[in-house]
Amino acid sequence: MLRKSCVYLLAVGLVALVGGVVVRADAPPRPASYELLLRVDPARESLRVSAKILAPVCDGRLNFRLNRVLRVERLKVDGRTVETLDGDTSSTATQRVYTVPCPTRQVEVDYAGEGVLTKDGRNQISPELVELSVYGAWYPLLEGKLYYRVALELDEKFVVAANGTLVKERAGQGIARYSLRSEQPVSDIALVASPAFVRLLPAKATRFEALARSTLPQRSLAHARDAADAVERAAALYREWFGDTEVPVRASVAFSPRPGPLSYARLPLIVVPEAELANSTAQGYPYLPWLMGHEVGHFWWSYAEYTPADDWLNEGLAEYSAAQFVREVYGPDAYTALLKSYRQATAQAGESPAIVETPSDSSWIYANRYAKPALLLDTIERSVGTPRLRAFLAALNRRGASQRRLSRADFNETARTVFDRSNAERLAGCLTVRGWPAECGGQPRTAELSR
Ligand SMILES: [Zn+2]
Repeated sequence: MLRKSCVYLLAVGLVALVGGVVVRADAPPRPASYELLLRVDPARESLRVSAKILAPVCDGRLNFRLNRVLRVERLKVDGRTVETLDGDTSSTATQRVYTVPCPTRQVEVDYAGEGVLTKDGRNQISPELVELSVYGAWYPLLEGKLYYRVALELDEKFVVAANGTLVKERAGQGIARYSLRSEQPVSDIALVASPAFVRLLPAKATRFEALARSTLPQRSLAHARDAADAVERAAALYREWFGDTEVPVRASVAFSPRPGPLSYARLPLIVVPEAELANSTAQGYPYLPWLMGHEVGHFWWSYAEYTPADDWLNEGLAEYSAAQFVREVYGPDAYTALLKSYRQATAQAGESPAIVETPSDSSWIYANRYAKPALLLDTIERSVGTPRLRAFLAALNRRGASQRRLSRADFNETARTVFDRSNAERLAGCLTVRGWPAECGGQPRTAELSR
């Protein structure tokens, strides 16, 4: 559920004339285009990449990050071989920063490496699993969104799913070649593949599938199928409640055979650790459908930037959508149990900072970006009624789709047009208040107290 943290470069209040077209400089910069040749060798646990980055946003120097296990073999800027500049002052334990002169056209970088790219095994290349995403820094990471085209070569026994359009072009001599491309600007290039995957289609679904290892117990495979079914049901309800979404509504849910608890949505790909198939309804709500309800919620709620000030919009609105889905399909008791779990999370968070001031990678992330916004919207719903609350979310979705971004200001302005003044002010105020007061959603409902 957690999303990566990244920030757009923002220039505020300027109007620039670029190529004869007036561009608002406070709009997100035009995404860079990536062209990658990716050769993955699971038997040797290695990958080799030739990357071309076209027209990256650049100001004096260009910084990009790569996983430290990846060795750069060749680096060119506008066709000229360069050395990386400066030190790697902002590098982390797993990622190294490379600094090069600004290109006028493109940067080319060839690199190779092997093995586990993240400590918890989330991103890796192994005979059983290839999982690659932003967490493993397997492609040169820049700030902001990107377009990509990938030519992928991989052992033909592997079944592949990715966050773009995937076409198998040919196979022979044990290697399959795919072309993969993004359909709109994206924040990641993610793919998951395993030779043990089977495609599982829910009974009624036409556009949703689950991928799980065929060697799992029948019970787990049935749960995987149910998860794809939950994605379809949730997507149908969200479309009815919040309106259309520009993201094509079809999805693969890949149950990745690895440890590490993180699930993430890189639509139309949803990646979930295989271990979640064994998770039960012990907390009183259906765990896997709830998780799917959240991830498919990002079909609608992904417009905000992944900054401390705004990422709660992505996560909180996806979470509230999941709660509404749980109530609609699994009934009021399941909803009450879910609210109770949110309240436990906020209680455990103690004297937490305001929602919009939650540092990334802090221990308050779940309570502040997921649980509190869901409780807050539940509280407002009780005051204004379900139709008005959904009209608000539909208006917010329209606004996000037309601007291709969403901020707290958009949220508050939309609230003022849909709600009465006191609810609009309460909503805005609860985003900036420390701790979690009763009027924001800190007060349990009677149904919760009686459980
Ligand atoms: Zn999420």
